[in-house]
Amino acid sequence: MTLSVAIIGAGPAGFYAAESLLDVPGVRIDIIERLPTPFGLIRAGVAPDHQSTKQVVRRFEQTALQDIVHFYGNVEIGRAVDLDELRGFYDAVVLAVGAGLDRPLDVPGERLDGVYGSASFVGWYNGHPDFRDLAPRLGPGPAVVIGNGNVALDVARVLVKSEVEMATSDLPDFAREAIRAGGIADVFIVGRRGAADAKFTRTELREIGALEACDPIIDPDDIPAPAVNPVDRDGRLREKTLAVLRGLAVLRTVKPKRLHFRFHRAPVAIEGDDAGAVRAVQFAGTQMKDGRIVATDMIERIACSFVVAAIGYRTGPIAGIPFDADRGLFPSDDGRIAPGVYAVGWAKRGPTGVIGSNRPDGTTCAEQIAADAPVLASRGLKPGRAAFEACMRARGVRTITFDDWRKIDAAEIAGADQLAPRRKFTSLGEMLAVLAESGKPICGPVPRAVRSDGDC
Ligand code: NAP
Repeated sequence: MTLSVAIIGAGPAGFYAAESLLDVPGVRIDIIERLPTPFGLIRAGVAPDHQSTKQVVRRFEQTALQDIVHFYGNVEIGRAVDLDELRGFYDAVVLAVGAGLDRPLDVPGERLDGVYGSASFVGWYNGHPDFRDLAPRLGPGPAVVIGNGNVALDVARVLVKSEVEMATSDLPDFAREAIRAGGIADVFIVGRRGAADAKFTRTELREIGALEACDPIIDPDDIPAPAVNPVDRDGRLREKTLAVLRGLAVLRTVKPKRLHFRFHRAPVAIEGDDAGAVRAVQFAGTQMKDGRIVATDMIERIACSFVVAAIGYRTGPIAGIPFDADRGLFPSDDGRIAPGVYAVGWAKRGPTGVIGSNRPDGTTCAEQIAADAPVLASRGLKPGRAAFEACMRARGVRTITFDDWRKIDAAEIAGADQLAPRRKFTSLGEMLAVLAESGKPICGPVPRAVRSDGDC
């Protein structure tokens, strides 16, 4: 029996699911990805100066190179092929689509020029094809980053790191130049809760204390006094994080840039100038009551010319699958949406956790598919890869194979400046040009107008 499994999304959740499925006898695994490139958030979400985190792709490559695994990039669900069609081709479909959309801030002024969600700004500085033309309005005034999570820290750090510090990153040249030209010297990172409830992690906070050209500015009174012998694990972890913040709060300020931490401030409005560009963010003071955030009478206005809302992500719906719009994920029983349809990663859990958090999702998913195999087989085994490839051919979809990706990867590495790990291609056209040069026939990208029905 050969069970055909399609994994939609080639990010960490998709690759961990594929890796776990390798242990299920008789499966064939196709990883289908909207972008021409694999690795999802590792390439387009992990900060460009966190190259060591990106090394996990070496592990994913081992999976992609297995005979029973095929990668198909440049295939957008809903455009090149519908989910219902994939369910007709494959015995099991795994949704590993991540959470690529910004959560809305829901305050007046959110759409002003110079205000960005972290999905778009992070995508831009990572060379994501969707955001390469964002042209963010950086500087000359201060920047405000809303949110107290690790994405907010990533954004702030990329804005204030020196060119020397970023030389070993894969920040695209256009982003490097725009950040340099913007000359932002002050970044405010603003949380609606107190320091004890910030979602930063210790390693990421420690980096802030070691920046070459930027000092953290923290009011020591904003950091609670050390708790005596916290009993639970969460309490002990929180204490360690607060200890790092206390250390940052007593650093002397001598560097040309400043990263200001503000706690207990919730955004209430973003002010614009006559030209529709952001000029300030208004925050209400907050306090915690019965675990809830309650606004006080205090209002602080932070003048700025650039705002990033790093307040978390959400998954978009996919036609044919129940979707929980409030939580921004696909409701499931621990990932099983129905026999034959599964979710992993942020599409299953919502946008929390680190890269390794996707690994247990993959294990669970493989166990569920193995357990469901008799039911799936009893419906009659599906044609799998052959039918999918025939469909893509019939529709003129230029799929990118893993071998294609390796050529693109090699060209990016070869094109890098001395210290940078790679110079990313940020458009499908550039990548197809690499493949054309390497001698592979090119059929062209997926046409915008979707194929006629019934053609495969
Ligand atoms: P996050 O950790 O959930 O942080 C989101 C922040 O936004 C929280 O401080 C949250 O405050 C705040 N927020 C949410 N809605 C808001 C609103 N309407 N107004 C003001 N503030 C609001 O999310 P994230 O930073 O996007 O990170 C996503 C996941 O990726 C996390 O698990 C993170 O650790 C991980 N990640 C890890 C790394 C790393 O390991 N280096 C790097 C990047 C991301 P509340 O707490 O009040 O909701």
